[in-house]
Amino acid sequence: MSNPEDEYFARIDRENKEKLKAALGKDLIKGELEERKKLHWNKCGKCGADMHAKPFRGVEIELCEHCGAVLLDSGELEKLAGTDKSGIFSSMRGLFGGG
Ligand SMILES: [Zn+2]
Repeated sequence: MSNPEDEYFARIDRENKEKLKAALGKDLIKGELEERKKLHWNKCGKCGADMHAKPFRGVEIELCEHCGAVLLDSGELEKLAGTDKSGIFSSMRGLFGGG
């Protein structure tokens, strides 16, 4: 037989453990993102080789010399689109939901 006092403390204990678990979970996710950032920072998303900054039409793009993949920062595609007369970049913007 359990008395009400024991049940009360058991419940508090359980609640504290749940809170602790939730807090740890958040830290874990945050730590995991930091860890991933460290692992993938400046790495090619396709082959994992190092990316190299290259000036291209007044914009600095990240280029993978291993597989040729190109990484553009936010706004760089718009800048390139502005200098492009063929409309290729402009139509590419549509792929990302841009105007
Ligand atoms: Zn690559």
